[in-house]
Amino acid sequence: MAEFKLQGSGGYVIADLTEEQAKKADLGVGKLFLAPIGKLESEKMSKHYCNNCEAEFANPPKIHLEENTNEQVADNLVLVERGQYTCEKCNSIIGEYRVFKKNDESGEAGNARPSE
Ligand SMILES: [Zn+2]
Repeated sequence: MAEFKLQGSGGYVIADLTEEQAKKADLGVGKLFLAPIGKLESEKMSKHYCNNCEAEFANPPKIHLEENTNEQVADNLVLVERGQYTCEKCNSIIGEYRVFKKNDESGEAGNARPSE
């Protein structure tokens, strides 16, 4: 685990990421981004910066769940949750997250399917 600065649309978040999460966040432009990672736990985030307040806060941002849905976005991909990280002071959006699930992963629970 290491601390990274993750850019969002309205500021940034400082968070502990695994190597795998850091790879997802790296879009190859010299910055890491919040959006591709999926949802981060509050405990993993240590600070947030709000463009609107022009201030850095020594706390995780608030997590605002916008939608808890099972929206099919592709053949094998379901959007299960969508939401935002928001400023603790003014509630501006720091960044957004989306959580996806692949159908074949959930299908593993179906191993008990009767065979013919
Ligand atoms: Zn703010």
